[in-house]
Amino acid sequence: MDKPVAAPKTLQEAIQYFADPDTCLAFMVEQRWPDGRVLCPICGSDRVTFLADYRRWKCSGKHPRRQFSIKVGTLFEDSPLGLEKWLPALWMLVNDKNGVSSYEVHRALGVTQKTAWFMLHRLRLAMRSGDMLSKLSGRVEADETFIGPDPRKMHAKKREARAAGRADQGYGVTLSKAIVAGLLDRAKGRVHAEVVPTVRAEHLAPIIRKNVEPGSEMITDMLRSYWQIRDNFIHSVIDKTQTYVKGHVHTNGLENFWSLLKRGLRGTYIAVDAFHLHRYVDEQVFRYNERRDASGDSGRFVKALRSIVGKRLTYRDLTSDPGLATTPA
Ligand SMILES: [Zn+2]
Repeated sequence: MDKPVAAPKTLQEAIQYFADPDTCLAFMVEQRWPDGRVLCPICGSDRVTFLADYRRWKCSGKHPRRQFSIKVGTLFEDSPLGLEKWLPALWMLVNDKNGVSSYEVHRALGVTQKTAWFMLHRLRLAMRSGDMLSKLSGRVEADETFIGPDPRKMHAKKREARAAGRADQGYGVTLSKAIVAGLLDRAKGRVHAEVVPTVRAEHLAPIIRKNVEPGSEMITDMLRSYWQIRDNFIHSVIDKTQTYVKGHVHTNGLENFWSLLKRGLRGTYIAVDAFHLHRYVDEQVFRYNERRDASGDSGRFVKALRSIVGKRLTYRDLTSDPGLATTPA
């Protein structure tokens, strides 16, 4: 499908490869304008002249900001950091199975830890899966998981406090309230997951209707919230109080995904409050769905970069995101 791109194969190769600004530029041009036509980010015209000495283009249109670099109109716009830092950081983020920490990026790329933290958050946001190109279909598992302390194992008083919606003192973060709902297409091996406020039908059913082809077989546990979808889907139910597997009726695929997600949260990230949780979920979904990419690490990296530059997501877009407004720069 995608034409092969001469990309580095390991992190060390990536750091060396992108150390050369001309290589960075050529690589970015190929991802952003695959047909080779460089377009002005302001007016969309292809009547642009390349100014090699400045590694910039100049548009022949009559408008302000006629000169533009490869970073304009992308996530990297307005960042004083060069692509020789951004590209290897993205490499680390998409290819580290357990998730990369700001400390590791700081050590590998020689930026401060604060800067590394800032870079990773922006890259995570850009990796949001967004709308899927094709819906899930066939046999699809649906399940949900609680991130944080298991309410069933909680002391009764704390459980009551939670139920009453009071701040959970002693937990420090609001993680104990976070719920993630997931879908897994068995044949495609693809996951969709998102943070939901409750496990009620009003929050779970729309996710299925939006992401799964009608007529598919939905495999869930006994949770009643899933009954609502029986009008448009075949519904197979596993009673987990009796057994976890009945032929093909089980949610073990999603259980596996939940353990990857939780391992990443526990192992690498010191604290993730519920406010940022969706970014980590998106990151893990991307990594899971691209795990079998035939071209390996470089293939995943190229896909992530294309999705970033394809969205024309800028620094300003990101700083208008309430979750990132207060981050250090
Ligand atoms: Zn223009």
